[in-house]
Amino acid sequence: MTPGDLILRNGTALLGDELRDEAFGSLVVRDGVITEVTSGHVPADGATELQLNGAFVLPGLIDCHVHFDLAAHPAPFRHWDRTPFVRSMTCFHNGLLALRAGITSVRDLGSVDRMTLNYAEQVNSGDLLGPRVVAAGRPITMTGGHCADYGRIADGPDDVRLAVRQQLAAGAGVVKLMATGGISSPGNPGAPQLGVAELAAGVEEAHNAGVLVAAHAHAPQGIANAIEAGVDTIEHAAFADDANHQQMIAAGVTLVPTVTALNPIADGIGIPVATVAKSLKARETYRANTAKAIAAGVRIAAGTDAGTAFNPIGGLLDELMMYVAGGMSTTEALRAATVTAGGLVRRAGDDGRVGVVAVGACADLLVTERDPRADLEVLRRPSRVVVGGRPVDLGWVGCTLDEITPVLIEPVS
Ligand SMILES: [Zn+2]
Repeated sequence: MTPGDLILRNGTALLGDELRDEAFGSLVVRDGVITEVTSGHVPADGATELQLNGAFVLPGLIDCHVHFDLAAHPAPFRHWDRTPFVRSMTCFHNGLLALRAGITSVRDLGSVDRMTLNYAEQVNSGDLLGPRVVAAGRPITMTGGHCADYGRIADGPDDVRLAVRQQLAAGAGVVKLMATGGISSPGNPGAPQLGVAELAAGVEEAHNAGVLVAAHAHAPQGIANAIEAGVDTIEHAAFADDANHQQMIAAGVTLVPTVTALNPIADGIGIPVATVAKSLKARETYRANTAKAIAAGVRIAAGTDAGTAFNPIGGLLDELMMYVAGGMSTTEALRAATVTAGGLVRRAGDDGRVGVVAVGACADLLVTERDPRADLEVLRRPSRVVVGGRPVDLGWVGCTLDEITPVLIEPVS
């Protein structure tokens, strides 16, 4: 054992893909990886010891759709116009918000530049405290497409191929392609955008590099195009039809709903009028279609689109509550944010699986006093958080958040 190693004592682990409970005497972490879960007493031998007194140990939560350099302002993308100092502080701040909420891994699905790629490099190297981050760099969109003011505009398969290569060369761990319009940008959110040939060229480049592809897609034709092109995840799917759900199942595609993103949208709180109108029109359909996807048996990984208007990083539990309201059991909802999501945030250099408590898995762990399968609310503030085998000082996190939050408030203009 070395001083960087960790032993959790006398808890109940939610083990494996099924999150089955098992009491343990020692849960041993070496070099950031779980090496043993046993009823016996493994000698500390220099490792840090944490006494759990019967508390529950579960995998750290995973938010599969965030924007870490946004700050949940009413017109969220304006934050990309702020100074590099404020934007980098925003990433650090969001990382701490995530850890406090028990989120130990995120996929960042699009920034205006390399900010979140740089942040990911810092935290993934262990130099900066934050969750594991798999980041897309710039989202790839057609001329006039969703987020065209901020993304990498690409038209035609060759240009999409080049755009993907550019993101990969800059360090992207996931690729984001826009297959339909959006709710937060002008135009019809249901309109197909990048076509099958363009999407397929992007998928081929990403997969050649061992990188997964996330497609923003709201409506039937764009969703079908993205699945035909071979993407790995569909983001949102507000207007998906039953055929889309069957296509997802047949192709083994994972859905990341982000259905909570529209919950806080309302008139008169500074959100652009067009966004409010589109959001309110879509909201009930979006919720109903997410419930239909759950009922159909589509594989779902949890994501929030956090960073968008009044949707701060850390709201993952609210998304899980929406899945439960839509028909999932609490255990299935927990799996959506752990075991199922884990396959989407694995990095090239990871030694083990992510999102599961098992021997050989990365030691991203939460401790809760009660069984989260019985009441997900205990996840709102886990009593302990371990990321990559490193226990997080949650008191320090809270104080630091208090210190730096004022820096991120929008100046009055
Ligand atoms: Zn998004």
